[in-house]
Amino acid sequence: MALLAALCCGCAANPAPDEAAAQLPPPGSSAPPSDAAPSSSAPPDPAAVGANELGQVPILMYHRLVERPSSVYDRTPAAFRAELERLAAEGYVPVTTAEYATGKIDLPAGAHPVVLTFDDGDATQFALGPDGAPVPGTAIAILLDVAARHPGFRPVASLYVNAGPFGSPDGAALRWLRDHGFEIGNHTRDHTNLASADERGVQEAIAAGQREIQRAVPDYRVSTLALPFGAIPSNGALALRGGSDGTSYEYACVLMVGAGPAPSPFAADFDPTTTPRIRSQDPTGEDARYGSAVWLDQLAAAPAQRYTSDGVPDRISYPASAGLTPAPHFTDRAVAY
Ligand SMILES: [Zn+2]
Repeated sequence: MALLAALCCGCAANPAPDEAAAQLPPPGSSAPPSDAAPSSSAPPDPAAVGANELGQVPILMYHRLVERPSSVYDRTPAAFRAELERLAAEGYVPVTTAEYATGKIDLPAGAHPVVLTFDDGDATQFALGPDGAPVPGTAIAILLDVAARHPGFRPVASLYVNAGPFGSPDGAALRWLRDHGFEIGNHTRDHTNLASADERGVQEAIAAGQREIQRAVPDYRVSTLALPFGAIPSNGALALRGGSDGTSYEYACVLMVGAGPAPSPFAADFDPTTTPRIRSQDPTGEDARYGSAVWLDQLAAAPAQRYTSDGVPDRISYPASAGLTPAPHFTDRAVAY
């Protein structure tokens, strides 16, 4: 992981963006996904759909969408659209980081959760046009377009912002995101390297980022953090909870940068202080083995490794043969088959 921490986050090369904030859609507020499984009055049979709710979840990481990528963190709009189309075709349904980390993964039987995350508040991710709608060609506009053509594919994502995101200093962009069910996450106000800050500095950086978001969206509850540069503070617990200057924070999950799929939030190995992500990337090139194309291939080839929903929100189904262990506080809901 040290290698990945060192090479990760094109954030370093990108200017820090503007402000932030969004709110989780209320549970059940999204249209029920319809691609993945037929509805039925009887609870779906976990074995029939290969349910594995202790399996792994890809949390994909994006930075800029540009026609001419200048770093491994850039993607072209066409590559981004193709990746979303692939996810939809393979039965993935987006959930936000907060939904993932709190186990609010209410998907049809057979569907797989995926988390789409965007760092740095770049205007190629999202911007509002004069008509008040997302600018065509931005990542969010593309996501909305793909979701419109795949009704089960929820148009949700988690956007991790610094001060002044999306070229929208009045906060209108953040309010739009909040109003449309997207999650606004903290990426610190100034894109601070938390590994080189002292304990007071870690909390100041995180609290300041949260204040920036809440300045634009006052009632918004920020619930997850993405570490700038993937750099973990020496006291990792301070990334999850702390406070400074009258602002306290407590997060459900802290995202790193590399370098593989994340554990199920119901699994014994889920650690909210160091949750891994996967950089969106073609199957070839620099460190492609850590990238999304390679990992999505691997998850497709190993169904027992991947999180597959059983279609019943309160039941955590998993194959007894998979050698997986539920976290102690979920054992009463976990059912091996
Ligand atoms: Zn960043």
